Amino acid sequence: MFRIVCAMGAVLLTSMVKPVCLQEEFCQSVNNADCHSHDTDSNRQPSPHILQTYLNRSSDTHMLHDLDNFEVSCKKLIEAFQLDKVPGNFVRTVKNCIFSKSLPTPLKGPLRLAAISEDVIENILDLEVASTQSDDFLHYASGGRLLPGSVPLAHRYGGHQFGYWAGQLGDGRAHLLGQHTNRKGEIWELQLKGSGKTPYSRSGDGRAVIRSSVREFLGSEAMHSLGVPTSRAASLIVSDEPVLRDPFYNGNVKKERGAIVLRLAKSWFRIGSLEILARSGEPDLLRNLLNFVIEEQFPSISSEDPDKYLVFYDTVVNETAHLIAQWMSVGFAHGVCNTDNFSLLSITIDYGPFGFMDSYDPNFVPNTSDDEGRYSIGAQANVGLFNLERLLEALRPVLTPEQQQGAKQVLKGYGDIYHTRAQQLLKGKLGLLGEEEDDEYLIAFLLKMMEDTRSDFTMTFRQLSEVTVQQLHNTEVTKELWALRDLSSHKLYAEWLGLYVQRLARQGDDTDEDRQRRMRNVNPRYVLRNWMAESAIRKADVDDFSEVELLHHILTRPYLTQDAAEKAGYAARPPRWAQRLKVSCSS
Ligand code: AMP
Ligand code: MG
Repeated sequence: MFRIVCAMGAVLLTSMVKPVCLQEEFCQSVNNADCHSHDTDSNRQPSPHILQTYLNRSSDTHMLHDLDNFEVSCKKLIEAFQLDKVPGNFVRTVKNCIFSKSLPTPLKGPLRLAAISEDVIENILDLEVASTQSDDFLHYASGGRLLPGSVPLAHRYGGHQFGYWAGQLGDGRAHLLGQHTNRKGEIWELQLKGSGKTPYSRSGDGRAVIRSSVREFLGSEAMHSLGVPTSRAASLIVSDEPVLRDPFYNGNVKKERGAIVLRLAKSWFRIGSLEILARSGEPDLLRNLLNFVIEEQFPSISSEDPDKYLVFYDTVVNETAHLIAQWMSVGFAHGVCNTDNFSLLSITIDYGPFGFMDSYDPNFVPNTSDDEGRYSIGAQANVGLFNLERLLEALRPVLTPEQQQGAKQVLKGYGDIYHTRAQQLLKGKLGLLGEEEDDEYLIAFLLKMMEDTRSDFTMTFRQLSEVTVQQLHNTEVTKELWALRDLSSHKLYAEWLGLYVQRLARQGDDTDEDRQRRMRNVNPRYVLRNWMAESAIRKADVDDFSEVELLHHILTRPYLTQDAAEKAGYAARPPRWAQRLKVSCSS
C-alpha cells in the first residue's frame, strides 16, 4: 500500500423568531417571503433579527435553547448561481445550473431519534443538546418541516464511476437545507441524506436505509475523532417507512426501513460538480462555480490572481494526497472512490461501503460489489491520482495552455507528496523521531511482516505503543498481546525488532514513556470495525440504539483506553463471524 519498494522486494502502497415553515406551506411556493425573507439581509452584516437571535440565546452559553431561533440561509448560494428553471422533483436531465430547488419528502412516522452527535449539536450548531429531544427537532432533521431560511436544493453533479464517465448523477437522495453561520463565524452547509427524490434520483427511491445511515453517522464522526478531515453528522433519525433493497444484488429483495442523517460540511462540492459543467460545455458556469468555491473556501487564493485556478488545482492535489495518506494511516478504505465522491475541499464524504481493515492487507476491498478491487485500500493513492487527472480535465476550459502545462507538473508531484506524508505518518505511528536513511526500510519490513502474518493493522501499532522496549524483548509479554503475538510469529520478526530497537535507541534522550505517549496519540485503540458497526445495526434494526450510542461515545475518544470498550471487546481480536461480513453499495 504505502508505495515503497522495500529491500525485501515487496511493492507496498505504502442557524429571529420566525414562523415555522411547514413543508405544505413551503410547497406552494419556494418564493414565499415568510420562509426566507430574512435572507434579503446581507450575510456579512448582522441583521436586527440575527442580533435578536443572539439576545435570545442563553447569556452564559450563547447556546440556543430550542429550534425557534435556529436558522439557515440559502441566500449566498441562490444569489451566486442560477437555479434550475424547471420546477418539481421529477427525474430529468438538468442543464445550465448548479442547483435545482427540491423539497424533501418527509419520512413516514413514527420517527425516532436514534443518535445525535453532541459535539456537532453544541459546537457547530450552537444548540443545547436538550433541544434535540423535541418533536421540532425530529421534524426539522427528517425533512418534515423546513428550518427558517431554508430553500432546499439538490446539487447537479456528474462523475466518473469505476473509471468511466457516468454522466449526470447529482443529489439523488440528499437535500441541502442551507448554510448555518455559527457563533464562531464558521459557515456550515446542512444536508439531509435519505430525504426523498430529487431531479437527480434516476431510478432510485431517494431513500437511505437504517444500516447505511448508521454507518455514515458513526463512520464520519469516528473519522473526525481520529483527526481525519471529513463531513460531520448531527443526527440519525429512523422511521417505519418501508424501503426495498436488494443488499447483495442477487434478487433477494428485502424490506428495510428508511432513515435520515443530518450531515454537515463546509461545502459539499465535488470533483464531479466541475466535471459535469466542463463536459456539458458550460464554461461560464464552470468559471462561476470555481470562483465561488475559491472565494468561499480557499481564502489564501486571491480572486485577482491570474493563476488562481492553477493555484486552486495545486491546493486540491496537495490536500487530496494528504487526505489519502491519512486514510491509509488509520486503515480506512472509502470503498467508492468515484470522482463524485471526492470533495473539492479534500474531506472524506459520502460514506457508503467503507471499511477499516482488520488484518493488514493492501488488497483489502470493503465493497463486496467491487469485484475487480478497483477501490482496494492499497489502490486509493493511485485512484486519487486518476481522480485528480479528471479534475484537471474539468479545469482545462479555464486554463491557458501554459497553466495546463503547469497543472501537469503539479500532478507529477502528487506521488511524492503522498509518499512523503504517508511516510511521516507511519514514522509517527512507530514513534520514530528525526530522519534516518533506513526508516523506509524499517516501515516496509514491518508492513510486509504484517501482511505475511495477517496481523491486525490497528492493534499491531497500538500494542507497539503500549510496551516498553524491554517488554518488547520479552516473549512472555508479547505473547499476551494478541496482535503482536501474530506479528512475532514471522520468521524475520526478531531481525526487525533488533533494527527497530536500535533505531529507538538512537533517539537521544527519548524515553519509553515519551515514545509511548506520542505513539498512543496517533495509534487508535478503537476504530469502527465492520463487525462493530454490524452488531450496532442489528440492534438498531429492532429499535435498540444502545450500541450505536456506545460506539459513538467510544469512538469520540479512539486514542484513550476505555473500560466500556474493553468490556465490549472493541480492542480484542475480531470475532470469527466478522470474516463473513459483506458490505455492498446497496444503501
Ligand atoms: P453514491 O454511490 O452513494 O455516491 O451514489 C451515486 C449516485 O447515486 C448519486 O447521484 C446518488 O445521489 C445516487 N443515489 C444513490 N442511492 C440513491 C437512491 N436510493 N435514490 C436516489 N439516488 C440515489
Ligand atoms: Mg456519492
